[in-house]
Amino acid sequence: MGKHRGMEDTATVSGRTRVRVLLPLPLAGAYDYAVPAPMAARPGAFVSVPLNQREVIGVVWDPPAEPDPNPVPDRRLRPISHLLPAPPMAESLRRFVDWVSAYTLSPPGAVLRMAMSVPAALEPPTPQAGWVLAPPGGNSRPRITPERQRVLDAMQPGEVHAGAPLAERAGVSLGVLRGMAENGLIRPALLPHRSRFARPDPAHPGPALGGTQAEVGAALRAKVAARAFGVTLLTGVTGSGKTEVYLDAVAECLRPRDGKPGRQALVLLPEIALSAQWLDRFRARFGVAPALWHSEVTSRTRRDTWRAVAEGEAPVVVGARSALFLPFPDLGLVVVDEEHETAFKQEDGVVYHARDMAVVRARLSGAACVLVSATPSLESLTNVETGRYDALHLPERHGGATLPAVEVIDLRRTPPERGRFLSPPLVDAVTATIGRGEQAMLFLNRRGYAPLTLCRHCGHRMRCPNCTAWLVEHRAKRLLQCHHCGHAEPPPAECPECGTEHSLTAVGPGVERVLEEATALWPEARRLVMASDTLPGPAAAAEAARAIQDREVDLIIGTQIVAKGWHFPHLTLVGVVDADLGLAGGDLRAAERTVQLLHQVAGRAGRAEAPGRVLLQSFSPEHPVMRALVSGDLEAFMQEEAAMRRPGHWPPFGRLAALIVSSEEEREADRTARDLGLAAPGGEGVQVLGPAPAPLALLRGRHRRRLLLKTRRDIAVQPILRDWLARVPVPNHVRVQVDVDPVGF
Ligand code: ADP
Ligand code: ZN
Repeated sequence: MGKHRGMEDTATVSGRTRVRVLLPLPLAGAYDYAVPAPMAARPGAFVSVPLNQREVIGVVWDPPAEPDPNPVPDRRLRPISHLLPAPPMAESLRRFVDWVSAYTLSPPGAVLRMAMSVPAALEPPTPQAGWVLAPPGGNSRPRITPERQRVLDAMQPGEVHAGAPLAERAGVSLGVLRGMAENGLIRPALLPHRSRFARPDPAHPGPALGGTQAEVGAALRAKVAARAFGVTLLTGVTGSGKTEVYLDAVAECLRPRDGKPGRQALVLLPEIALSAQWLDRFRARFGVAPALWHSEVTSRTRRDTWRAVAEGEAPVVVGARSALFLPFPDLGLVVVDEEHETAFKQEDGVVYHARDMAVVRARLSGAACVLVSATPSLESLTNVETGRYDALHLPERHGGATLPAVEVIDLRRTPPERGRFLSPPLVDAVTATIGRGEQAMLFLNRRGYAPLTLCRHCGHRMRCPNCTAWLVEHRAKRLLQCHHCGHAEPPPAECPECGTEHSLTAVGPGVERVLEEATALWPEARRLVMASDTLPGPAAAAEAARAIQDREVDLIIGTQIVAKGWHFPHLTLVGVVDADLGLAGGDLRAAERTVQLLHQVAGRAGRAEAPGRVLLQSFSPEHPVMRALVSGDLEAFMQEEAAMRRPGHWPPFGRLAALIVSSEEEREADRTARDLGLAAPGGEGVQVLGPAPAPLALLRGRHRRRLLLKTRRDIAVQPILRDWLARVPVPNHVRVQVDVDPVGF
């Protein structure tokens, strides 16, 4: 039952023990409950408690720093119903829940819910019943029907057989098995508990790290071996061996040390699409697969994984951002691969940035944290500069492979033909590449056929009824779709505004339209479109990657899902159809993000022996983004970015939080936004911008307004936000969402 920790965990009021229980409900805080004797409900214990007419599973939370001035009187206190037979939630995770709640201004119950996403995992695992052959002997001579004979034939002496598969193999019903048991032919037995999570072997040989890799690898292993918190930014061009080096750190983490057992490791990846090839790498390195955690794993696997993590049975977990909330009892390493990715930002519910929270999770667990990227964020680079993070760098590609040569095609000088999107120099380069039997890729970060549908007669544009967004034509599906709310409608035969028939026309390209043009240009080439809607799920993405690796494809046309982590050894040409896409709009990080994305895409070319070439189609070749990509000097680019943001205290040199006010009633949204504006905090180093329409002023039928709170770096935004929100009443049907460190604005 563990060590007795005495009464300091609980408070005794007139002879009755009470504890706080935090419930995983969005609006709940912690409630007091009585602990019925002889139950020992220590902080971290999972308990079932009555709430109104229901039973709810929660966690015994730690006593508050200050006692409640108005506690619920003892006689009104309801008792805890049961203590659940699950490993208690570790203190490090409880502190993490508290921390995330305080930082994001989310109710602690909403954060706890993310750490308890699988309540079924808390039920005791049902020992699965099976059957064994009964030992021969006894006096009874049960009848052996042909059915029973088939069952006996299907069984092995001494082996426990699960009921359903046995019945199926023998072609009998489960009733036959029960009858045989009653007659003493077979006996029930427990199936052996077999963990589905094999233990990666830290001693399994990995590739020998050479040159700088060896130095960087040793430095990283030493950080993990120290078994203490620290953050390291691991950078290096694509293909320099960053993954090999951090897998080596994972091995170090799993290794027992100084008589202490190995610790658990968590690797966060931004996208599921990455998993297939990444998992192969992991398997090659450790001989077994790690536990996986993302939105597409089945509920059964989630339950098993959650439990295995809690019991320390899953030494390594690879997952999306929500894996941060898994109940690791002894986390020793957190790796965030592609740390610059905005996909780490969760925008719904509890709004948090998984990269930043990974650092906190590591700190509270006494674990090493490694942030990995070929194109690190300005946030992380600045943390290195100020000495908060350490830095390790791999300067060259493994095996002497060279970086691709990047050139800009000036679309003002060599434009594509009318109604086309590929310029003559790009067309020639693709023709030459596939003519040599090499692979080419055309990159355009836009799904569908065309981003805009317009009436040639009256100029009417097809827009989403629920959002401030144009409808995107998906020609293969014969639909106009909103990429924000999922609204879809068939393209109308006539303009809904002026009634002219056949007047609606597609404007601008999406990948489907590039495919159409490529089909006309290179009818013989084997083409593959890689977009999230053409490759739904990891299996389809893995199959596509295999086909590319096995040279079953000549031309790849892809959206941003091609940018990350893939290894395409025969790809030698990357053409970026619209390098200016993403630079428009008022987003603070637009340039940084475009450089990161295009640099990652460029990194797909020329990974093996053949040198790669990257062509960027742009209307502004002199833009700093294009110059940085051509020169490859991202460091200089980031320094310019820093120089632009520093004077105005823009992140990361200042702090930012957004309040998004939304309502189905436009007037209500406006009124609350105005009230917040009137009550805006001020003072030295504190500034409020807005209210103004939010980037999507209408989203899923809700009108959205935004206020931005901007402060100096040394001022915490949370107390200011808390105080501000407390002063402004918000009507029931108006929602105010707090977004600390917003990424898209
Ligand atoms: P990055 O993560 O920086 O893009 P990777 O770790 O994926 O780089 O390495 C690129 C390729 O080179 C991979 O196929 C990897 O297996 C191989 N590689 C890297 N380092 C070594 C090494 N020391 N020995 C053998 N292969 C290596
Ligand atoms: Zn919409």
